Amino acid sequence: MFIDTRIDVADADMAELEELLAAHGAQRFHARQLYQWVHRRGITDFELMTDLGRDLRSRLSEVFQISTPSVTRRERSSDGTTKFLLELADGKLIEAVYIPDTPSNTFCLSTQVGCAMKCAFCLTGKMGIVRNLTAGEIVGQVRVLGRELDMLDKRFNIVLMGMGEPLHNYDATMKALRMIADEHGLAVSPRRVTLSTVGVLPALERLATEPLMPNLAISLHSTTEDQRDMLVPINRKYGLKELLDACRRFPLKRRNRITFEYVMLAGVNDTPEDARRLVKLLNGIKAKVNLLPLNEAAGIPFERPSDERVNRFAQILADHHLTVSVRKSRGRDIRAACGQLITESSRVQAPGQRLAMMMGESFARS
Ligand code: SAH
Repeated sequence: MFIDTRIDVADADMAELEELLAAHGAQRFHARQLYQWVHRRGITDFELMTDLGRDLRSRLSEVFQISTPSVTRRERSSDGTTKFLLELADGKLIEAVYIPDTPSNTFCLSTQVGCAMKCAFCLTGKMGIVRNLTAGEIVGQVRVLGRELDMLDKRFNIVLMGMGEPLHNYDATMKALRMIADEHGLAVSPRRVTLSTVGVLPALERLATEPLMPNLAISLHSTTEDQRDMLVPINRKYGLKELLDACRRFPLKRRNRITFEYVMLAGVNDTPEDARRLVKLLNGIKAKVNLLPLNEAAGIPFERPSDERVNRFAQILADHHLTVSVRKSRGRDIRAACGQLITESSRVQAPGQRLAMMMGESFARS
């Protein structure tokens, strides 16, 4: 078997790349050129990096490689949403999703293989955590989607709402955001990035001190401690009250607000009393609310409320001057919607079964 012993620089930020290249006799500006090829143009083959001298190219390609997740499957929904099943260097699978016109074009990225948070209504949570992604693997998803959709030179937003809990993989997530923001790369401003979290408090406090700050979305989902304990189990450790206090302290730029995501589960958290409690809880926070009517799936013991019920809930919030939106489910026909991302199960062994799982068949309802 061929074992590639070259150093993988997919994970290197600008400073690390400069150091690595210097150690192999190249100059600082060579690192900048390399970074541009990889991150701005999506080119990872040294031979194609024509502004580097021929000798340098061949030397670099002997020592370095730039790994990129490979596309195992690509599915396009009737609404244009496109889901990519990606294979990482160790064979693990993740998903990344392209969502067009929402109103901007959005890349939805994963931060972990699986997730440890075990939210009661989320399929990814059912997988458990397999491992963290590296910064290179998070940035690699942007490279893949950018190349596949021919969008590297277009404007897009990024949401960290794929598989995983970004604040449970803090360092890699923040490094990835810095790499994506680097002026020699795609220079995606953090204002175009939204980090969605259940509220891992120590990490949230740390995020509050970052120079490079993405928009914040909090997966609230419930208005009482007891109920949130059940729906979002990390609440038993970092409770609702503490979480909202941290949100109150969170430094926001002018005109910026925290988005509170609220998954709506029929008969569970969708009553007018829930809506009124939510209004009270968010008092004093610069907030907007995004209602997510449940994306149903086999194995998820909840139901999606009727549109009427969702609208009634939304109306109560709006009557109390909260900005509220109802998330249109995109890509439901290809199971690319929120909470529907799942790629593997440790219990599934037979290759046929495993493939069916990957394709979502085991979870298909219709
Ligand atoms: N771990 C992060 C990102 C996860 S996914 C977080 O929890 O915020 C992004 C959003 O989709 C979260 O608000 C999550 O709770 C929500 N979600 C999960 N499963 C869902 C489902 N079945 N239907 C609708 N939204 C869901």
